[in-house]
Amino acid sequence: MEFIDLKAQYQLLEEKIDQRIKKVLKHGRYIMGPEVFELEEKLAEYCGVKHAITVANGTDALQLSLMALGIGPGDAVITTTFSFFASAEVISLVGAIPIFVDIEEDTFNICPEKLEQTILKYSDSADFKVKAVIAVDLFGLPADYTKIEPLCKEHGLFLIEDAAQSFGASIKDRKACSFGDIATTSFFPAKPLGCYGDGGAVFTGSDELAEMVKSLRVHGMGKDKYDNVRIGMNSRLDTIQAAVLLEKIKNVENEIECRNKNAKNYNSRLNKCFHVPFSPEGFMSAIAQYTVKVEAERRQEVLGNLGGQDIPAQIYYNKPIHLLDAFSSLQLVKGLYPVAEKLSNEVFSIPVHAYLEADQQERVIEALLGVQ
Ligand SMILES: *Cc1c(COP(=O)(O)O)cnc(C)c1O
Repeated sequence: MEFIDLKAQYQLLEEKIDQRIKKVLKHGRYIMGPEVFELEEKLAEYCGVKHAITVANGTDALQLSLMALGIGPGDAVITTTFSFFASAEVISLVGAIPIFVDIEEDTFNICPEKLEQTILKYSDSADFKVKAVIAVDLFGLPADYTKIEPLCKEHGLFLIEDAAQSFGASIKDRKACSFGDIATTSFFPAKPLGCYGDGGAVFTGSDELAEMVKSLRVHGMGKDKYDNVRIGMNSRLDTIQAAVLLEKIKNVENEIECRNKNAKNYNSRLNKCFHVPFSPEGFMSAIAQYTVKVEAERRQEVLGNLGGQDIPAQIYYNKPIHLLDAFSSLQLVKGLYPVAEKLSNEVFSIPVHAYLEADQQERVIEALLGVQ
C-alpha cells in the first residue's frame, strides 16, 4: 500500500501525459514555452481569479508574494505555528519577523480570535510594523476566511493564502487560491495538484501585483529579461511540468471527490475510537491529508501496529514551527501555543489517496480498530 499512489495516477493518464511531454520535446521551448501560458489561463479560470502566475515551487510562490507586497526588514508577518516550515521560513528569508498564532483544535487552522488578539497586541510596536498575515489551508481545508478576510481589511493588513495543500478546495462558491490579496500553491508531486518535479503558482486579482510577480520571477525584468529594473529571482515553472499539469488538472475534481469519499468512510468507521477531521458547514476540503488524533501516550502504539502490518502512516507535524531549531533565536518557549503543541503529539495521517482500493481502506480501518 502506498501513502500517496502517484504510480497508479500515472498509469491512468500515461498516454496523454506522455504525448504532452513529447510535444514539448519536439517544439523545444523548455523555458516559458506555450504550455506555461496555457496552464496559467487554466489555473486562473479554475480558481476564479484574474491572474495565475506559475513559478518554480510553492516556497518561491510565498517569497515572491511577500516581495511583491514590499515586505522586508522592519516588517512583521503573522502566521500559524502549525504548518510546513516554508510558511514561516519565507518571512525570515525576506528579512521580516515571523509572529506565530495558535490553531483551532478541530480544524488545525489558524484561530481567527487569537489572530485578532495578536494583531491588537502588536499594533503599536516600536520595533516593527505588522504588515501581513499568511493563513495556511492545512491538510486541504481552507482557513476561516469568512473571519480572516474582514479582520485583515479592518486592520489594513495584507492577506496571503498559502493554498499549497488545498488546490481544488472551497468555501461555498469560492475556490481555494482565491482568498486574500495574493494566494499561493505548490505543485510538489504529493500535493492535490502535483507535477513530476517542483512547481508552484501565485494567484491574485490585482493587475499591479501580477505584473510585479511576473517581473520578480525573471530576475526583476522590465521590458525584457535583460532590462533588469529590480532585484528578483529565477523562479519559473519548466514547460515540461506545465505540460504534465495541463493533463493532471483535468483529473483534479475527480480525485478530490474520491478522497472525500474515502474520508467520509473513515469518518464513519473511526469516529468512535479517534478524533476524526472536521469541516465547518460550507467548507469543502481537498483532503490533501487525512489526519486523526489519538491521546499522545497511545500514538506510538497505534503507529507501531500500522507499521507492523505494512500500512504507511505519517506525522504532520511532529513539532510546531516555533519550536524548530531554525527559529531558536526567536526564543519562543514551550507553552506559548498550547493547542499546536498538544496536537503535534497526537496527530497522524493515513492513506486517503484517490487510488486507494476499498479492500486496502478496510485493512487500514481494521488495523486501527484492532488496537482499541
Ligand atoms: C508544500 C508546502 C509549501 C512549500 O511548497 P514547495 O513546492 O515544496 O516549495 C508551503 N506551504 C505549505 C503549507 C506546504 O504544504
